[in-house]
Amino acid sequence: MIRRPENECPPPRLKLQTDTAITDQKDHPLTAFPFTEATPVQFHGPLPKTSEVVIVGGGIIGVMTALFLARRNVSVTLLEKGRIAAEQSSRNWGWIRQQGRDADELPIVIEACRLWRQLAEECGEDIGLRQTGVTYLARTDKELADFAEFLKIAEAHGVDTRLLDSDEVAELIPGMSRRFGGGMTTPSDMRAEPWIAVPAIARLAAREGVNIVENCAARRLDLSGGRISGVWTEKGRVATSNVLVASGAWTSLFLRAHGVSIPQLSVRLTVAATGPMPEIHAGAATDEHIAFRRRQDGGYTLAPGGSHQLYVGPDAFRHLTKYLTALKANPFGTRYLPAAPRGYPDAWSTPRKWDADAESPFERMRVLNPAPEASGLRAIDRGFRDLFPQFKQVPIKASWAGMIDAMPDVVPVVDRVPAIPGLVIATGMSGHGFGIGPGMGRVLSDLIQGNAPGHDLNRFRLSRFTDGSPIRPGPAI
Ligand SMILES: Cc1cc2nc3c(=O)[nH]c(=O)nc-3n(C[C@H](O)[C@H](O)[C@H](O)COP(=O)(O)OP(=O)(O)OC[C@H]3O[C@@H](n4cnc5c(N)ncnc54)[C@H](O)[C@@H]3O)c2cc1C
Repeated sequence: MIRRPENECPPPRLKLQTDTAITDQKDHPLTAFPFTEATPVQFHGPLPKTSEVVIVGGGIIGVMTALFLARRNVSVTLLEKGRIAAEQSSRNWGWIRQQGRDADELPIVIEACRLWRQLAEECGEDIGLRQTGVTYLARTDKELADFAEFLKIAEAHGVDTRLLDSDEVAELIPGMSRRFGGGMTTPSDMRAEPWIAVPAIARLAAREGVNIVENCAARRLDLSGGRISGVWTEKGRVATSNVLVASGAWTSLFLRAHGVSIPQLSVRLTVAATGPMPEIHAGAATDEHIAFRRRQDGGYTLAPGGSHQLYVGPDAFRHLTKYLTALKANPFGTRYLPAAPRGYPDAWSTPRKWDADAESPFERMRVLNPAPEASGLRAIDRGFRDLFPQFKQVPIKASWAGMIDAMPDVVPVVDRVPAIPGLVIATGMSGHGFGIGPGMGRVLSDLIQGNAPGHDLNRFRLSRFTDGSPIRPGPAI
């Protein structure tokens, strides 16, 4: 346990973003997905002999936790098998939403929104943070009833969510071909550019003392007398007594090798980015067919509303019973594919055991880069043109997919592992970990230090899957 008094935290360095940075982004619109294994390494370490905390995984969760620990003068090493943010944390839609959150996540995401504003200033580069709102469009009475349920939660936390009638929807997003029955909007929700923001925050963290080592897979935990004593990596061993596993879609594979089982599966989601287009709406919005979000470079990030695929592997069978509630609620929401491509976390041929001195599945796949699904791309094209027929063509400039680390109840595990003192898990953000990332990072930094986390984490406890509690899915809205 590492305790640092609050007042040891250095004051944030404030620097306002410049117009130059904004212009730069507009002059360089996205033409291809920005991360591959060929992307030059930015963070070289080196791997230290010892570190007070080691974090496995350089996505938004790992990066933010590392930043907060460094601000408390804790020595922290962040291990990333590939490139910072190259998996989910760059592939996401860039929505920072309080809207539609689980009641226990909402206070953390409210804190996250405050932290995002601070980060946008501290990074010293434009991360594309804009308060442009998030809007859900409803076709059915059931959707409207779900929105009304969330409104009660939002109001209890002082969030500015409001319901919209049909005319208000048409006024908020003009030019849509269809009349919606109503909608829900949260004007204080934001957007940011994921592949710009997370590396920028990592650079901030490195400037504040975090030792980031890219191209460095953690292979195994080193345990002495049942406690954490170090981490074996592909570049050698780091002695430590505190490890955070924030490894996204790889977490379950990593933990299972140490006897810790979590019912995590990963599902593929396809995304497309248009080139610059006239502005139809400055924020983010979705109905059941299409999700869209204005980007800083003048294009739109698009995705087919609510469609994803699960590659069936050993974990899908192992955890099937835990997912029955979700399956009953939405039996046709997932398309099943018989086997994941070679090297994926739950592929049939992926080894489940490996030695610390031999190559592990993690360095064999530095960047999990699933192919976008052809039918998903067709659905995007159709969905966007149907809604905005004024665009005869959708100028798609890039497409990609990401593997979402899903949990049966659509909320993460954020907890210590009682069986292995020194081990903390933060995973299963279930498709909404980008927006909440800064809040989770702050919470985790306190959890690791043995401080009160400031929010009730009971909902996110590891034992909920084994203590006989019923699976209680969070809102899938
Ligand atoms: C298509 C898509 C759209 C989404 N849209 C949104 C959105 O609009 N808003 C939102 O809030 N969320 C969204 N999400 C979810 C969000 O992106 C994730 O919840 C979030 O990025 C998870 O962050 P993470 O740090 O937990 O995991 P990741 O970003 O996946 O990072 C985990 C990292 O760990 C590394 N790693 C794994 N194993 C090891 C190892 N053994 N050693 C070293 N490194 C390792 C991986 O290489 C990876 O970089 C979306 C996700 C996807 C895929």
